[in-house]
Amino acid sequence: MRELYCKIPKVDRFLQDRELLEILDGKPLFFLKKAVDSVLNNLRSRIAEGKVKDFSYEELKEEIKRELLSLLKPKLHRVINATGVVLHTNLGRAPISPSVADHLKEIITGYSNLEYDLEKGKRGLRYRNLEWVLKELTGAEDVCVVNNNAGAVLLVLSALAKGKEVVVSRGELIEIGGSFRIPDVMEQSGALLKEIGTTNKTHLWDYENAINENTALLMKVHTSNYRILGFTESVSTKELVNLGRRYGIPVYEDLGSGSFIDVTKLGLSYEPTVQDVLKSGVDVVSFSGDKLLGGAQAGIILGKRELLQKIKKHPLNRALRIDKMTLAVLETTLIYYLDESLALKELPVWKFLSQKPHEVEFKAKELIRILNREGFKGNAEIVKDRTEVGGGALPLQTLPTYCVKIEIEGLSASEIDRKMREFYPPVVGRIKEDAYLVDMFTVFETEIPLIAEHILKLET
Ligand SMILES: *Cc1c(COP(=O)(O)O)cnc(C)c1O
Repeated sequence: MRELYCKIPKVDRFLQDRELLEILDGKPLFFLKKAVDSVLNNLRSRIAEGKVKDFSYEELKEEIKRELLSLLKPKLHRVINATGVVLHTNLGRAPISPSVADHLKEIITGYSNLEYDLEKGKRGLRYRNLEWVLKELTGAEDVCVVNNNAGAVLLVLSALAKGKEVVVSRGELIEIGGSFRIPDVMEQSGALLKEIGTTNKTHLWDYENAINENTALLMKVHTSNYRILGFTESVSTKELVNLGRRYGIPVYEDLGSGSFIDVTKLGLSYEPTVQDVLKSGVDVVSFSGDKLLGGAQAGIILGKRELLQKIKKHPLNRALRIDKMTLAVLETTLIYYLDESLALKELPVWKFLSQKPHEVEFKAKELIRILNREGFKGNAEIVKDRTEVGGGALPLQTLPTYCVKIEIEGLSASEIDRKMREFYPPVVGRIKEDAYLVDMFTVFETEIPLIAEHILKLET
């Protein structure tokens, strides 16, 4: 045992090893020291337990290499989404288009005219680069953009209704993920919640009866992640707008996802677009930047100039300000909506949502073709299924998809699932009826060979 201990190479030898330093690639030596420590400590305890007969420098180096590679990988890293859910909040919601990413890289690796007016040679406005395209797309009089839609709701209520009443239907007092609840946000903003109607039915006269001299807003909230079905009634945006006009009270709609494209074109049932909502006359509307819009995390607020001025001047606007990365992504994403056919082609979210079933099936066949070519001995077969949009957009609506069911002798579905998440890049699939499924709906074509590689490794 003593002999084995003496044989352990000096730490410095590893720290000066050319090959290891090459892998380190200029990153802090901390990572290499940590990898060496971990491997050598492990070796010492295995020697103490009598589990090691012999070892070589090269063997240890191989172990250190593996450890180092895993330590060097950023903790936030890419994942292959094989869940089929396009706007998966846990997997980062909307992927952005490569052309948008190219522009982003240019903006953030140097300086930019973020708040600089190049014509005048002095301070300019941060949001002017976004305003033009949002106004062009929607006809909104004015624009404000903050950190996310939750922040947008808080800001709108704080700026327009602090100390006053906001009328909301009981059927719309939603909670969405991450403990965002309308009543709680309302309280935080200092606005007073005036609940009306019942869970399943709210009539126009419920709103009208609730109006008094202390009413600041009539609010409509998109019931993003659920639907009330059966014996129901709710008031349309248009009706609410007419009521608001009669009493001189502004109407605010939290649209949640907020789409610029009419989803009936994709075979889904009608959801009002941002343009529709503004056309119906609402005074203020807000929605997310990274749900169906397919851009960066943000909360976009559009509406009447007078109200937007109040919102923009509120101190919370500064606290919820977006940075240049968000601005760069949003501007270059939004321009595609000036030509809808380009948005459907260029923005990954819409590219996925507008896939034809045979295109998804083609990806499934491609995965199986590679597996067969490489001599996969397990069972891989195509399974037709349905998937959802996610991100609280279009609840209850599903789209047809094709999955590849993977079965391997001696491995349960949950074992396959766990192992697929351990590879790099990890594959997050789904389990249905005790079978492991790779849902091809959200898989990029370039990812298919990587998925195949991982599956083949499961057998060795
Ligand atoms: C998603 C959502 C929000 C929150 O939006 P984030 O951009 O995630 O902050 C607020 N309201 C509704 C109705 C939503 O669907």
